Amino acid sequence: MGTGTLHIDLDAVAANWAALDAKTSVETAAVVKANGYGLGVSQVALRLARAGVRRFFVATAEEGVVLRAALGHGPEINIFSGHMDSDTPLLREGKLTPMLNSAEQFAQHQARLPGHSYGVQLDTGMNRLGAEPAEWASFRAEAETGPLTLIMSHLACADDPAHPQNAAQLAAFINMTQGSSAKRSFAATGGLLLGPDYHFDLCRPGVGLYGGAPFSEAHHTIRLSLPVVQTRDVAAGESVGYSATWIAESPSKIATVSAGYADGLIRFMSDKARLFAGNIPCKLAGRVSMDLLTVDVTHLDEIPDHLDILCPHQSVDALADEAGTIGYEILTSLGQRYHRIYKGEVF
Ligand SMILES: *Cc1c(COP(=O)(O)O)cnc(C)c1O
Repeated sequence: MGTGTLHIDLDAVAANWAALDAKTSVETAAVVKANGYGLGVSQVALRLARAGVRRFFVATAEEGVVLRAALGHGPEINIFSGHMDSDTPLLREGKLTPMLNSAEQFAQHQARLPGHSYGVQLDTGMNRLGAEPAEWASFRAEAETGPLTLIMSHLACADDPAHPQNAAQLAAFINMTQGSSAKRSFAATGGLLLGPDYHFDLCRPGVGLYGGAPFSEAHHTIRLSLPVVQTRDVAAGESVGYSATWIAESPSKIATVSAGYADGLIRFMSDKARLFAGNIPCKLAGRVSMDLLTVDVTHLDEIPDHLDILCPHQSVDALADEAGTIGYEILTSLGQRYHRIYKGEVF
């Protein structure tokens, strides 16, 4: 096998959902945008549906169509980007529920798909997506008389419980939705962990399902094993890799493994990230190339046939830290070249 192997534990994803669900007394949906945070949207969603998830969220109508094909009829599929110009046939045929973001989207939805259910997304201070208070006031009365399934908003700082913006956004959300008979959703993973004040009728975690921060009790969901293609001895003073950034201080052994920035192992990991031989860490030596990594394995007694870059010893967040990014980016960048092996797949 010339490419890496990505082991994806769908039972762990389901266990993470159940553990998050146990922290609320309300419904827990699942966010599976960006191909299920890189793990495979069909496999993830089918496993979560089996675990009891009845409501899913994706970013775009195109993602919703793919998800509907996988899930069949039944589960509700909500679209964060709302009803965009070219979405009408996708929303209709996929029976997808747009989270309308503006008075303009509401008018367009009414005109194009009368009677077709919708949600409304409000902006409570993140200034990214959703109607602000004055705009919401302009169409709220009409929106509340139609098939409105959900009113939602999103927290900007929920991964930091001490951040004052959490309470400010909460107050704004309560203010903007008071007296509504529609269901309300405010919390993603971070908000769910902030406690019941943030739960309303429906929580919608994403990253926690896949084992990422801020859900610190999460099960690991993936192992990424990269095959060793070649090993060599380098003498003191020899360099390794592009631009000769790594220079051997003493006689060293270098393993070259198959995977690189084209597989989502971003170049910023160069000279910093570690791979694991079992439980023994081995540092990258030199730059990440497109298809290859070079690793200092001088201290190993035996060279294994593969090294792991994501494993119980190194979570997505730990690897992300070494690369100056967040677990979300590591997950959603996982390459298409890996051989993917699923545990717990539902057919
Ligand atoms: C991505 C997203 C979520 C899920 O967030 P996590 O931090 O991954 O749990 C929920 N709501 C909205 C609007 C999002 O964009």
